[in-house]
Amino acid sequence: MSSNVTAVSYGLKLSLPDIQRLRSLLTAAGLGVGAETRTGDARFEVYAADCALDARLDGARRALAAAGIEGVDTALVPAALRSAPRKFLIMDVDSTLIQQEVIELLAAYAGKREEVTAVTEAAMRGELDFAQSLHARVAVLAGLPADVVESVRSEVRLTEGAAELVAAFQSAGHAVAVVSGGFNQILRPIAEDLGLHYWIANELEIVDGALTGKVLGDVIDRAAKEKYLREWAAAEGIPMEHTIAVGDGANDLDMLGAAGIGIAFNAKPAVRAAADAAVNLPYLDAVRYIAGV
Ligand SMILES: [Mg+2]
Repeated sequence: MSSNVTAVSYGLKLSLPDIQRLRSLLTAAGLGVGAETRTGDARFEVYAADCALDARLDGARRALAAAGIEGVDTALVPAALRSAPRKFLIMDVDSTLIQQEVIELLAAYAGKREEVTAVTEAAMRGELDFAQSLHARVAVLAGLPADVVESVRSEVRLTEGAAELVAAFQSAGHAVAVVSGGFNQILRPIAEDLGLHYWIANELEIVDGALTGKVLGDVIDRAAKEKYLREWAAAEGIPMEHTIAVGDGANDLDMLGAAGIGIAFNAKPAVRAAADAAVNLPYLDAVRYIAGV
């Protein structure tokens, strides 16, 4: 059975020999190459080829990942997703939508940044249970004045291309959501600035003007991220095949697996290996070219 996919390759530079090599890699992976386009800007270049696939999609993805060109990644995207009238984009926040890990910025105010960074990295590699590690990391914040939240908000920087990506999806009538193992107090103003209808994170408990070192309610963990993807896409009437998930950590794996395409963004190796596609450029709007938006 043949299926239609678009092979989207991207890198800082794509030379003509790179494109020729990509064509032969696609053919070797069982893809019949049809119409081709080249786009991009001063930051990165994109080559897209409409292909007919006469093999399994996951097998072709693995073959391309193994045979790749240094500095160039190729996403194999179902044509039905790229041409869908409405798509649902869901993104992780820390180290995906924004450049930092908010818990590390908060921990710096408690003089515990290095300690917390080590735990965060182990959690994002999938070595620790996320909820347990979150409780342990938030505990070091106990007693901090609540106004450190304001200070941390002002330190947060969107990832390059993030605002452009969100605007492009929204202006084309698609839905955009973010789901975070970080904190509502930081995410709320960012989500409102971006005009997002769907967003959720953990709630830091604040009592008498100080952080208690606890979070309120259920932790947004790996399972919760997938749950919200399914709920929100259903609320928009968008089938899961037309959803795109982007994340960098082990707690993103379930939503990356559940989405129509799961994209690892400058991710840990275990996440990159499990995802359908990888972006290893520092520009989040590369996702536009994968999704065909
Ligand atoms: Mg992250």
